[in-house]
Amino acid sequence: MRALLRIFLRRVSVNMSSARALDPILAFTFAIILTASPGLTAQTLSVDALSRVAPQAESFSPKQGLPPVYTAFGAKPDAQSDAPIVGYVFETRDFEPQEVGYSAPIESLVGLDAQGNLSGLEILYYRESYKSIRGDFLNTERFPNQFEGKSVAEGFRVGRDVDGVSRATISSWAVARGVRNAAREVAQAYLSEAAIFKNASAEAQALSIVAPLSWDELIQLGLVQPWSVGLPDGSQLELTLAFLANEGLGEILVGSEDFSRAEREASNRVRSGSLLMVGIGGDASEPFRQENLALKQGDWTYQLERRRFVYVGSAEEGKSRDKMRFAGAIVLPPQLEIDKPFTVFYNTGVQVDRIEDLAQAEVQIHPLALALATGSAIPAEFIPQLEDEYADLESDSALQALLSSAPWWESLALIALLALAFTAFLRKSATLRWAALSSTLVYLGFINGTFLSVSHITNFIKQGPGLFLTDLPLLLLAGFTVVTTLFWGRVFCSSLCPFGALQDLITRFVPKRLRRELPRRLHEAALGLKYAVLAGLVITALAYAELSVFQYFEPFGTLFYQSQSLLLWAILALFLAGSLIVPRFYCRYACPLGASLGVLSLISPFKIKRVPQCEVCKVCEGACPTGAIKREAIDFKECVRCDLCEIKLRDSAGVCKHSVETVMARHKAWVPVTLVD
Ligand code: SF4
Ligand code: SF4
Ligand code: SF4
Repeated sequence: MRALLRIFLRRVSVNMSSARALDPILAFTFAIILTASPGLTAQTLSVDALSRVAPQAESFSPKQGLPPVYTAFGAKPDAQSDAPIVGYVFETRDFEPQEVGYSAPIESLVGLDAQGNLSGLEILYYRESYKSIRGDFLNTERFPNQFEGKSVAEGFRVGRDVDGVSRATISSWAVARGVRNAAREVAQAYLSEAAIFKNASAEAQALSIVAPLSWDELIQLGLVQPWSVGLPDGSQLELTLAFLANEGLGEILVGSEDFSRAEREASNRVRSGSLLMVGIGGDASEPFRQENLALKQGDWTYQLERRRFVYVGSAEEGKSRDKMRFAGAIVLPPQLEIDKPFTVFYNTGVQVDRIEDLAQAEVQIHPLALALATGSAIPAEFIPQLEDEYADLESDSALQALLSSAPWWESLALIALLALAFTAFLRKSATLRWAALSSTLVYLGFINGTFLSVSHITNFIKQGPGLFLTDLPLLLLAGFTVVTTLFWGRVFCSSLCPFGALQDLITRFVPKRLRRELPRRLHEAALGLKYAVLAGLVITALAYAELSVFQYFEPFGTLFYQSQSLLLWAILALFLAGSLIVPRFYCRYACPLGASLGVLSLISPFKIKRVPQCEVCKVCEGACPTGAIKREAIDFKECVRCDLCEIKLRDSAGVCKHSVETVMARHKAWVPVTLVD
């Protein structure tokens, strides 16, 4: 069993392949920066810091042992007895390889209890960008807190096992991997396997059966499928098919680094899809060509597109080590039903009339791999009977998982806020809207931190809808925003965006005499800036999925997550200074999220109506906080549905109380226009 643990809890190999992705010049720069900042790497940890991640402990030993840990002791039962060991605290920087975020290793302090569960996590050091900007979004409580109570035998996959920080996806992955690897190494060194598996899920227990199997046993079991393809000249292409169902099975088969690389590359290229490994070996005279692969299931046939084949690695880790020359993986298209049999074809170059005449392998994904991929119940034979009480554990469905993990009071509070904002909007009540705005700023902004950001769009591009399917409050807010925007326009901007609320409050309390408008032509030209920013961010997300620069254009996180970056605070100060003079300055000219909602709102059927006298009246034009009104027309994508102009209309039962005669007096040469609804 110890051997089994060693394999299952095996830490990723000591190499610098994570850092390979970094530009060497950057790596050199960081080395200089870190060397020049000894205080950052040689921190002395106080008992307070250790207690924060191991609150069950009364005292700690000095850091010692291999791997180095602070042993955590509980209270002495009596004066004669020794204090019991209640856990261990360790720093991830003591474990190689260190996981790299955007630009440099992320150092964490981790507590592990005596049962193999994490008791706390604190991010000690984290650099966000190339410009030595210190950590931002990971330093919130929400992200590290979710690791508490997690067994080291569980998965640590971001998006499934832990919620990522959508504003810092790469860093979320790096923290999760770094903590997992170090915690498993500590558990392996200091805890018994019974303690570790006691709290492990059915999935982890099932993998513990697979982990010690040999390559031949994996083939016999059906988790790995060899496929020999004869080429016309008599040489052989030895292919191996294996479904990389999830992180656990993927790591067992190809190792942690290769699986992570494949998965990241896959998510960069296509939005979704499970990975079918294709190992390549043999004495083939012709090189393997991915475009020669095709899939068939029933009547559906698919010749593999280049973007759906990713490089996995050179088979240096995991069970596939030395069993092939290198491995790639097909990112299975969504049309393929993975629970049903399908055929993989390889075109050897011989002219054939029908696809069925090509070299082929029938594939039926093994029930265990299927269960691991879909989160359905693990087949009973794969749940070891280490503890009877865990024998009938079943994995939750995605919906069950979403509902069972939902923070209910947070969800209810959000629903109440959505109801308040929507009522304010429908009733055109300025009082209710101010109540919604204030609640939004205080609760969504400063207390809860659940607000939408353009990073949800860019991460949606990178990760697909799964981004929203693990967080019920976020799902509710995003769903409400999309639906209301499609029907009525930017209701979200009206009273559900904390930064919009802050700007409205600034405008309300700043004396009117300080307010200014940009010259109309400059204003209209500047309106395009936010669309350019949005386009830039979307293109960056599509092309460079690992680069995330939105925070420089979106000051929400800086304020509400209390960034440690002076540069980001300076950017925020500029936007707020602009808002002191020009109402909703940031919304008007810079907000990429507002730009995306504005584009979406163009198809909304319930736009604001205008009346002919608006052409010369201009009362609403002067009051509009976003400059969206120009005489009788409203540029609806710029409208934040603040209701100001609608209230003017509503006050006179659908027709503005400014009569044509009254407003004509202001404009002698006025010729009435006819508005088309
Ligand atoms: S435009 Fe941007 S900042 Fe303004 S309210 Fe909308 S989302 Fe918030
Ligand atoms: S006050 Fe009435 S007439 Fe004047 S701009 Fe507003 S809706 Fe039009
Ligand atoms: S005043 Fe009217 S046009 Fe301007 S933002 Fe408010 S609702 Fe939209």
